[in-house]
Amino acid sequence: MNSKPDHAEPGNPELSRGLERRIGKRSAAVIEKHLGITTVGGLLNYFPRRYMNRGELTPISEVPLDEEVTLIARVLSSSTRAMRARRGSLTDVVITDDAGGAGGAGVPGAGLPGTLKVSFFNGFRAKAELQPGRRALFSGKVTRYGGSLGLTNPEFQLLDEDPDIPGMDPEKLAAMPIPVYPATAKLTSWSIQKVVSTLLETAELDSLDDPLPADIAAREKFLPIADAYRLLHAPQTPADWQRARDRFRYQEALVLQSALARRRAQLAAEEATARCPVADGLLTSFDRQLPFTLTAGQSAVGKTLAEELARDSPMNRLLQGEVGSGKTIVALRGMLQVVDAGGQAALLAPTEVLAAQHFESIRRTLGPLSRDGMLGGFGPDAVQVTLLTGSMPTAARKQAMLDAASGTAGIVIGTHALLSDNVSFYDLGLIVVDEQHRFGVEQRDVLRSKANKPPHLLVMTATPIPRTVAMTVFGDLETSILDELPAGRAPITTHVVGLAEHPAWLGRLWTRSREEIDAGHQVYIVCPKIGTDDDGDFSPGEAEPSAADLEGDSGARELASVTGVVEQLRDEPALAGVPLAPLHGRQDPVLKSETMASFTANRTKLLVSTTVIEVGVDVHNATLMVILDADRFGISQLHQLRGRVGRGGLPGTCLLVTTLEPGHPSRRRLDAVAATTDGFALSQEDLKLRREGDILGASQSGGRSTLKLLRVLEHEDVIARARQDAWQIVGVDPSLAAHPVLAAAIEEYLNPEKEAFLERG
Ligand code: ADP
Ligand code: MG
Repeated sequence: MNSKPDHAEPGNPELSRGLERRIGKRSAAVIEKHLGITTVGGLLNYFPRRYMNRGELTPISEVPLDEEVTLIARVLSSSTRAMRARRGSLTDVVITDDAGGAGGAGVPGAGLPGTLKVSFFNGFRAKAELQPGRRALFSGKVTRYGGSLGLTNPEFQLLDEDPDIPGMDPEKLAAMPIPVYPATAKLTSWSIQKVVSTLLETAELDSLDDPLPADIAAREKFLPIADAYRLLHAPQTPADWQRARDRFRYQEALVLQSALARRRAQLAAEEATARCPVADGLLTSFDRQLPFTLTAGQSAVGKTLAEELARDSPMNRLLQGEVGSGKTIVALRGMLQVVDAGGQAALLAPTEVLAAQHFESIRRTLGPLSRDGMLGGFGPDAVQVTLLTGSMPTAARKQAMLDAASGTAGIVIGTHALLSDNVSFYDLGLIVVDEQHRFGVEQRDVLRSKANKPPHLLVMTATPIPRTVAMTVFGDLETSILDELPAGRAPITTHVVGLAEHPAWLGRLWTRSREEIDAGHQVYIVCPKIGTDDDGDFSPGEAEPSAADLEGDSGARELASVTGVVEQLRDEPALAGVPLAPLHGRQDPVLKSETMASFTANRTKLLVSTTVIEVGVDVHNATLMVILDADRFGISQLHQLRGRVGRGGLPGTCLLVTTLEPGHPSRRRLDAVAATTDGFALSQEDLKLRREGDILGASQSGGRSTLKLLRVLEHEDVIARARQDAWQIVGVDPSLAAHPVLAAAIEEYLNPEKEAFLERG
């Protein structure tokens, strides 16, 4: 899969030229040291993060703490004194955005809103230059001491004496935006700007070939590439950089989409083993014994899978479907077709609990069509379904591995244990990845490498993915959607239970649970933590940041924990005599599966657990879910969790319990979850809260997103246009022979990290 790009392709030689050739050895060394950039193209593509307006002061109340900031401010006052403990002097300068007032005791102005105290040790230049009334650019890290904001020894530059623009018309100068580059503690934005402006003069910009096809550039009325670089880095007016940025944003989208289109074309050109349906095989028998009719969506997707599995090029498909939409049956039917054709299928689940549950329910669903490696006893027409997880006893695991390797096992279900080196398959024909968001790219590729020929791949996710994200992250996969729930699925009602305003409702939760259990049903209680003194149970590498991460909640309040709640409920009169059990990720795997089995068999009535039940768990008789400290979970996590109830035709209820005051930002998130069961709407909402990098997954470095100018949620139209163009270009010219500059831009873009990013899906 990881076919390395061929470096023979021509590109823009000027872009790969060493920087020292254009800006001199010394500057090049500084840029390399602080930014890690060594080529002309690297620096040209180091885009300003934003632009400041010379005439406007930066609102000081909005500057972020503990980050390198560049801001424009006016000097309010300045004073210098000798230091007491050691030799030298301390110059305190108060700067303002003119939002607050002046005056006060001590250092005039310090501590007022809209002011920042700037301290310099032995700041002789600061003392001389930063006179009251002067305006300057400051660059440094904003810290807080004694309740007020401050900068210590920042770099600064007087604004009205900009040395770079001698003799410029003052009015024009005032309108000229100041580019703000991502700076470091040692290299200010304006130092970068200075070097870049040298580069703009010395680089052979006009020799650059445009990666954008001419017809597209004309249609979009884009600036020529050389002008675009000039105006992006040295705009005369705000309109300049906006035009330049639009162009590069589109270029970024086109390069990315072309890469995806090309990859998809390459995948389609690979040779796979065709797994054709057989007349009277397992699949036919299975369909005959199914206790329900497939939904229209299940039939349609099933038909697509059947056709694609029967082709000799690999299927690469993403199946999206709401929680409970019946994805497993669809996947299982595909697996049976592959087994009928003599191949094997692997189902990769994100957790042991889920793998075990898939194993049980797939065997139950298959009934006499399945056999177990240990027991045997069924005819040769049955498929052997094998479970393979890390926690299995050694003997059983060895047997499972043997069955996978010899081909005895037709369907192998497992966790990441399937990925270990000593697991091999006789003839792996189909890989199904369940709940993809928990699985990394590399892991999928490891599994792929276990097949002799590229296997067919089906990725299933219950997290609805907005269109543009799908286009960007999964642009190389075909997408199918199950958009209806099977008939008879009862609706889930969700309520927010605010304990801050109604403390008495806590007791109501347990009587409500009791009512449900007395009616013969079962209850989930979900907690954000395992024990009373740990820091939560968010599994490492989880795609979703906790709500607390998003809001900087330090977690000072005591959160509900599985062990704490179990203790509490054992003494709860309303629940006297109710069989209840804890379940969490740190338990012994054997205990975990016993607990799950007991709950599935309706012996345990109330399960107190962490998010281990988040994905896939399927107990039809469970009708009530109580999520304690629900504000600690993200939107899609809550949506996934509540999908565990209301699965058996019985109406489900989900109670989102919180101790936060009404009006707290996290309460609004809970209200959103309570207001709709439309997973798609919720995932849009959710994505707004996440950083771009989390959406795109891999290749985040230093908090910078992989994409420079594109924002997948904001720029849907750009992405859609670029995708159409890319599909057209690649459709006509898969090797991009007629577009060598675009091809080179793609190779440039696909450094190893980014290649991994494209491998997602
Ligand atoms: P998910 O898409 O969340 O993985 P599952 O595949 O676990 O959903 O299906 C949820 C439940 O619905 C399962 O118990 C399954 O047997 C049942 N189911 C699937 N398809 C249908 C159908 N067409 N009619 C009725 N029940 C169905
Ligand atoms: Mg599922």
